[in-house]
Amino acid sequence: MKAAIFDYVRPRDLAEAARLLADAKGGAKLLAGGQSLGPMLNLRLARPRLLVDVARLGELRGIEARDSAWRIGGGVTHAQIEDAAGRLPGAEVLCAVAAGIAYRAVRNRGTIGGSLAHADPAADWPLALAALGADIEICGISGARTVAADRFMKGAFTVDLAEDEVVAAVSVPKLSGGARWGYYKFCRKTGEFPEASAAALFDAERRSARVFIGALSGAPQRIPALAAAIAERGAAACTREATEAAVTAAAPDLDVIDRRMHAAVLLRALQQVVRA
Ligand SMILES: Cc1cc2nc3c(=O)[nH]c(=O)nc-3n(C[C@H](O)[C@H](O)[C@H](O)COP(=O)(O)OP(=O)(O)OC[C@H]3O[C@@H](n4cnc5c(N)ncnc54)[C@H](O)[C@@H]3O)c2cc1C
Repeated sequence: MKAAIFDYVRPRDLAEAARLLADAKGGAKLLAGGQSLGPMLNLRLARPRLLVDVARLGELRGIEARDSAWRIGGGVTHAQIEDAAGRLPGAEVLCAVAAGIAYRAVRNRGTIGGSLAHADPAADWPLALAALGADIEICGISGARTVAADRFMKGAFTVDLAEDEVVAAVSVPKLSGGARWGYYKFCRKTGEFPEASAAALFDAERRSARVFIGALSGAPQRIPALAAAIAERGAAACTREATEAAVTAAAPDLDVIDRRMHAAVLLRALQQVVRA
């Protein structure tokens, strides 16, 4: 199948992009890497009248160090983040997450903002950024606002974004030297979306203990009780029984096979933390 007819425009800047979205009153879509939108257009699951191509907007493409965070533009590709390995002190975990997304060809075009806005439940960035306590900077015709990454995704393919708004950047707090990070996902085939995924961050200096599971039917789910138990008791709290109980509580609708798979993946992510 081929896409339905649409108009195409390349705005000069973010403000013009937002205005074009607002004027179209829901009839326009941003085009970033096209890795998710392209197939949706071809299958006619999306039929916008207008595509607003932001792939080359300089305002969305920077990676900048701020005092206590890294600011990654919404149009930065997964490959650019992967290739920044060794140059993102305090946020090297981003490079590892990026390197595990799909195949290099997808990573060359797919963007962090596109991934967040698309909000596939199995995607890597919604999970990783929630666990890292990142913030999402959003720009629209009435100005800018910030949303915590763990609140941005409302459900499968549903986010806190108005018709005229663009994901402008992601602000990722720098981890302290003693921080421990775990990330694990299970894919049936290398490069495909995972069947189960989990991320954990323990940063005592920042008083942060965050554990999330992903690849569910909706947004990633936080597991605060297990995070608190591990922060207090370390490896002793990190057991198969504990992860099964945590997954059951966080995602009660999973069948027994999925529950065990998610629990095993969560255990692997946590073992990376307690064994580090
Ligand atoms: C074969 C394959 C395997 C994949 N495997 C994985 C995987 O393992 N893990 C993973 O995380 N992802 C995976 N992906 C998805 C990939 O990461 C995409 O890059 C991502 O989902 C969309 O990013 P994009 O820049 O291509 O966005 P597009 O496809 O251009 O846009 C997607 C949606 O986001 C909107 N949008 C784009 N940019 C913005 C913005 N800045 N602000 C607001 N809205 C915006 C668009 O309007 C559209 O609705 C895979 C994709 C493919 C094709």
